[in-house]
Amino acid sequence: VPELPEVETTVKQLHPHLPRRRIRSAHIRYRNLYRTGSLGVRYLIDREIATVERIGKNILLRFHPAALMIVNLGMTGQLLACDARERLCGFRARHLHVRFGLDNGRELRYYDARRFGHLYIAERCDCFEELNIGPDPFQMKPAALRAKLRSRTAAIKTLLMDQRIISGLGNIYTDETLFYAGIDPRTPGQLAGRNCGRILSSARRVLARAIEHGGSTILNYRRRDGTHGEFQKYHEVYGRKGERCCICGGIIVRIVLSGRGTHFCPTCQR
Ligand SMILES: [Zn+2]
Repeated sequence: VPELPEVETTVKQLHPHLPRRRIRSAHIRYRNLYRTGSLGVRYLIDREIATVERIGKNILLRFHPAALMIVNLGMTGQLLACDARERLCGFRARHLHVRFGLDNGRELRYYDARRFGHLYIAERCDCFEELNIGPDPFQMKPAALRAKLRSRTAAIKTLLMDQRIISGLGNIYTDETLFYAGIDPRTPGQLAGRNCGRILSSARRVLARAIEHGGSTILNYRRRDGTHGEFQKYHEVYGRKGERCCICGGIIVRIVLSGRGTHFCPTCQR
């Protein structure tokens, strides 16, 4: 599943190719990719791409004259720029669902094997509201997170994975974040909320490091359909049940919280 670091890597890869390019043609083969209320891909023809950025775990393209397209990669989506005639190694033609012809003879393509991704095209919208997501750890201020955790009694791990509260943290990065913050994942939200500054700085540290290694993650993700492979050696607690904690040497444990495998060090995280 593409998490925030993989999406950020995709945006970085698209950045040299898209801004200032004009859309010349647009085709969609699998119409169920549209989110409810989306305009059709042809709405973007003759518009120029202004920016490409990440919003939570989504890719956002803005256009002139005013339009925007939000792409959510779902489980297996891939958005990439290549030559119009290029046959990409490792990508199947039957998984190619959307293609935009650009004014320089290149193409913006969307591949998705399992088709859980979606597109949303509009003239304008409040993206956070449309996607029903909160700011990500790079955007959020400690006071704003504290306000959202106030009076919440659910486990902090569960609350941090709720995209409406804070976007961009999946199961792996939440476990890693709480390890760096030294907080037990079972702590009630209202109690953990006292340490929002530490939670956010830990989340930014974990995500920044994953973004740094994003390229290799994408490669593994392409090859093995969702597994992280090599990337696991950068995890301190996730997937390391029974191994030693890198800080105290104690044993890392695994519990289940709201149905999700949760890894932590009982000594370092209280
Ligand atoms: Zn420890």
